[in-house]
Amino acid sequence: METTLTYLECTRCNQMYDYNVPQFTCVNCGGILFARYNLDRAAKVLSPAKLGNRGASLWRYFEILPIERESNIVTLGELETPVYRFNYFPAEIGVRDLYVKDESVLPTGSFKSRGMTVAVSKAKEFDISIAAAPSAGNAGGALGAYAARAGIRSVIVMPRDTPKLNVYESFLYSSNVQLIDGLINDAGLIIKQGVERHGWYDLSTMKEPCRVEGKKIMGYEIAGQFNWNLPDVIVYPTGGGTGLIGMWKAFEEMEQMGWISEKRPKMVAVQTSGCAPVVNAFQQGSKECKLFENAATFASGLRVPKPFADYLILQVIYESNGIAISVDDDTIRKTMESAARLEGVILCPEGAAALAAVKPLFENKFINENESVLVFNTGSGLKYIEVLQNIVSGKIDNKLT
Ligand SMILES: *Cc1c(COP(=O)(O)O)cnc(C)c1O
Ligand SMILES: [Zn+2]
Repeated sequence: METTLTYLECTRCNQMYDYNVPQFTCVNCGGILFARYNLDRAAKVLSPAKLGNRGASLWRYFEILPIERESNIVTLGELETPVYRFNYFPAEIGVRDLYVKDESVLPTGSFKSRGMTVAVSKAKEFDISIAAAPSAGNAGGALGAYAARAGIRSVIVMPRDTPKLNVYESFLYSSNVQLIDGLINDAGLIIKQGVERHGWYDLSTMKEPCRVEGKKIMGYEIAGQFNWNLPDVIVYPTGGGTGLIGMWKAFEEMEQMGWISEKRPKMVAVQTSGCAPVVNAFQQGSKECKLFENAATFASGLRVPKPFADYLILQVIYESNGIAISVDDDTIRKTMESAARLEGVILCPEGAAALAAVKPLFENKFINENESVLVFNTGSGLKYIEVLQNIVSGKIDNKLT
């Protein structure tokens, strides 16, 4: 297999960059770089029909991923994730076609593995010795795991109040985990210093071009799973925005390759009322986010007070006629309970936030009853031990006395 990667392009000023050396953000304008491919060539080798013979690995899309040599692939077995229908929950709301794409089955228990398998493979291709990233939750474990597998040292900086299991897994995978008093943005500053002073390879969300390439495969998978006819609405819990941006990029690439029509889903970014910078920006019709002060939510993947890719997140929402909406932590907890009881799935809080947003969106007629809705469960609820404890504690105490 051969990649059709041709160059990297700044999403702000369109400056082009060579992909043969490590590239991070645009040196002219600080913008985010996107990998660009020769899609005519890709379409000659890859097709929906041929994909069917390539198994279920994310790496079956090799031609449109930014890695040059197959031998550099660092994998833990990233298989296509299931899409299944929710039955009882939507019936209560009135929505007819509600599907969940369940990313909890991926290595390290969240979809962060999609980005890291590609980004760490690239780091290996560049013969990097230390890779670093800040993490508010699942990114740390994913970086640690793939770096360990590649024989690359990892540095993970996390807020001290990150969910316990995310901290534990990071310590297990990596010999350099730092817990700080502060939020992910503060952790990001420490990574930045290490990058400048010690030459760490920066895997911070959207600051290098490969994690979003791994995440875009969600868009390809959905297209296949919906018979190359995308769902009407995609509801996505948005922290750094990698998945939302990646899927939108995938849709464009697929249209250029003739795999799908120009029809796009309405893209919904869901946040929590304790940290809603994208929702605030959307409501003001703004193209960028302001820092959300005192960000607090137990949906740790959504505790990003100012996403670096804010301008791309908002662009996707506007272009798709989408919306940004927030739900509160209490509603998330209740939604986790009902999804477990009604559907047999322990959603992660981020996924529960996305599911909870469907009801108000249906009530305010953003979603119509004949529209198909796809909600993302971005990780395993089982990693959030504190949240689960909080939900069941009253019940267990009652039973014991
Ligand atoms: C990181 C994370 C998110 C946010 O993902 P982005 O694509 O960066 O917005 C959502 N849910 C979970 C479980 C996460 O770990
Ligand atoms: Zn630029």
